[in-house]
Amino acid sequence: MKKDIHPDYKTCAVTCACGNTFETKSNVETMKIDICNACHPFFTGEQKIVDAAGRVEKFKAKYNK
Ligand SMILES: [Zn+2]
Repeated sequence: MKKDIHPDYKTCAVTCACGNTFETKSNVETMKIDICNACHPFFTGEQKIVDAAGRVEKFKAKYNK
């Protein structure tokens, strides 16, 4: 594997639209995102409920033919 094909990863300051900031490793120094682990519905738990309901509906659709 060639070493020089790998990007030069460095500390990246990420700013989310919700105001949360955190650092990650990237090949860019700053990054703006619309959603993060503090405001993403998956991590707030809201989306989990929606997903669970969707799975139940799919299950019913599959076995109630
Ligand atoms: Zn956020």
